[in-house]
Amino acid sequence: MTLFPNYQRAPLTFKKTKNATWTDGKNNEYTDLSSGIGVYNVGANNDAVVSALIAQAKEIWHLPNLYENELQETVAAKLGGEAYTTYFANSGAEANEAAIKLARLVTKRETIITFKNSFHGRTYAAMSATGQDSIHYGLPMLAGFQYAEFNDINSLKELLNTDVAGVMLELVQGEGGVIPAHQDFVTELIQVVHDNGSLIMIDEVQTGMGRTGKKFAFENYHFQPDIFTNAKALASGVPVGAMLAKNEFASSFSYNAHGSTFGGNPLAMSAASATLDELSLILPSISEKINLFWQELATFKELSSVVEVRGLGMMAGIELNIPVKQVVTDLLDEKIVTLSAGHNTLRLLPPLTISESQLTTALQKIKQLLSQ
Ligand SMILES: *Cc1c(COP(=O)(O)O)cnc(C)c1O
Repeated sequence: MTLFPNYQRAPLTFKKTKNATWTDGKNNEYTDLSSGIGVYNVGANNDAVVSALIAQAKEIWHLPNLYENELQETVAAKLGGEAYTTYFANSGAEANEAAIKLARLVTKRETIITFKNSFHGRTYAAMSATGQDSIHYGLPMLAGFQYAEFNDINSLKELLNTDVAGVMLELVQGEGGVIPAHQDFVTELIQVVHDNGSLIMIDEVQTGMGRTGKKFAFENYHFQPDIFTNAKALASGVPVGAMLAKNEFASSFSYNAHGSTFGGNPLAMSAASATLDELSLILPSISEKINLFWQELATFKELSSVVEVRGLGMMAGIELNIPVKQVVTDLLDEKIVTLSAGHNTLRLLPPLTISESQLTTALQKIKQLLSQ
C-alpha cells in the first residue's frame, strides 16, 4: 500500500478546475457545489489569484519568520482591519491550536468549552475541542475540554465557572450538519461568557471568507469576537490559516509563545492577498445570488426525501431521510460535486462566483434525483 486508508476516495481523477467547473481525466465536466470543501470561494484558479501566485513564485517563496514580512502585514490588515492582531498558520486546525493557546495565556485559565456536533480540526487540541465521538475515534483526549449543547444557553451556563478560558464555536456548524446558531443563543452567549471573564472564540474556518454572505459570519450576528480563526478559503487552496485576536490580547503571544516554519509564507500570503481583493469585489453584490440559491432550495422542502433545509448565505444543508452517501455518489454520476455532513445531510458550498445558470441547473438536477 502506498497511502494510508484514512480517506474514502471516489474512483475519479480530476485534472483541471476553473471557477465552478471541474474536468476529469476523460474530459467530463462537473459542476462544483463543494468549493473543494469550502476552499474555492472566489472560484477555482481565479485569474487574479493565479497571477499573484505566479508573480510571487518568481520572487520569493519561503521566508523564515526571523525577518520582516510585509506581505503578512498587508494580509493581516485586509483580514482584521484596525481592531485585530493576526498570527498566521498553515491550516484551520493549526489556527485553532493557536487560539486555544492564546485564550489560556490571556486568561490564565484552562478550560475551553465547545459544542456537541462541532468540528475544529484533527490535530490533538483541535480534535479534543471537536464535540464528536466519531472524530475522537476512541483515542484519549487532552484534558481541559468540555462540550455544551449547541443552541442551548442553559447547557452552556451549567459548564461556566472561573476556570473557563474561552468558549469556542462555529456560527454555522459545518461538518456537524450545517446547523446555524440562533441569534438569541449568540446574544445570550456573549453576555454570559463575558460576565464569566471568558473569551469568545469563533471558528470561521468554514464560515469565513464570504461563505455566509459577509466576509465573516459574526457580521451576520452583529458582534466582534475576542478571537477568531480562518483558513479554508483564505488563500484559495494554498495552505494557510490565521488566528486573529483583539489588539488588547496581542501581548500574550510575546516572544517564543508560539511559532511556525511555514506560517504566513510569501506564496500563501500572495494568494491570500489576491483572494481577499477578489472577495471584496464579489461581496457587495452577492445577496442576489444568495436569494436565488434560497429560492431554489425552498422548493426542496416539498420532497418526501427531504427532512429539513437550513443554512446561511451560500452554505446549505439538506437533511435527508434517504442515505446521503449514496446521493453524493449518484450526483457524481450526474456530474455534480457535493458534500455530506453530520446526520444524513447533503451539504452545498458553491463557489460565490458560480454563474446563476450553472447554479440553478445543478440544483434542478439535485431536486430531480431527490424526487426519484
Ligand atoms: C475544516 C475545518 C477545520 C479544520 O481545518 P483544516 O485546514 O482541515 O485543519 C476547523 N474548523 C472548521 C469549522 C472547519 O470546517
